[in-house]
Amino acid sequence: CGIVGYIGNQNAQDIVVNGLEKLEYRGYDSSGIATISNGKLELSKFKGRLSVLKEHLKKQPHTGFIGIGHTRWATHGEPSDVNSHPHINESESVAVIHNGIIENYRDLKAELIKEGYKFKSQTDTEVIVHLIDHYLEDSKDIMKAVNLAVKRLRGAYALGIIYKNEPDKIIAVRNESPLVVGIGKGENFFASDIPAILSYTKEVYYIDNEEMVVLTKDSITIYNLEGEKIEKEKSVITWDM
Ligand code: GLU
Repeated sequence: CGIVGYIGNQNAQDIVVNGLEKLEYRGYDSSGIATISNGKLELSKFKGRLSVLKEHLKKQPHTGFIGIGHTRWATHGEPSDVNSHPHINESESVAVIHNGIIENYRDLKAELIKEGYKFKSQTDTEVIVHLIDHYLEDSKDIMKAVNLAVKRLRGAYALGIIYKNEPDKIIAVRNESPLVVGIGKGENFFASDIPAILSYTKEVYYIDNEEMVVLTKDSITIYNLEGEKIEKEKSVITWDM
């Protein structure tokens, strides 16, 4: 139900969890976070309140300067630790968060199972991470793989994706689910809703349907699904929380 992403020089866990707290009012049944640190993808996700995740992170903090976080409102698959986001591929290199519903997930799941993919969750979302994994086999390029994967999806999605082998970037994609990018200095953000990032920046890009964003700590590049760059006007938020 809520997504947050961060890349920069600060501890990603703190900013992502803080952002998720600001989205709690929307309601959710589970939460989770993935970060990359020392070439490793770290994942924590739990059914229940954000406080469950926070308690865990107190004992086993994530380090790292790139991260994505999710609060889930289950649509496919009961609330459980396994069904919570982020979802990762078998080789633990890609992590995906998703708001929305993938309408053709059954067909995609059948196709991926035929190919040998093993599913851990009952979610519609898990097809996305295996699809990306599938396309990574050819291209080894996360942007390309995400683009090819997203073209196969029908339905509503705002996605956040990180890839262990390209730890300098986060990818976010939108179709029919809200997505906003926050513009920082030496750091950048995305979220499903402004309150999540408002304490860090007031300059944003509103992402439109079928747009894909690549965030590094020093750049934000927006593409259409044909891979062409899009120029977009900044918006300045004039209200406070
Ligand atoms: N459809 C996905 C799920 O059930 C995402 C739900 C959401 O937007 O939180 O896991």
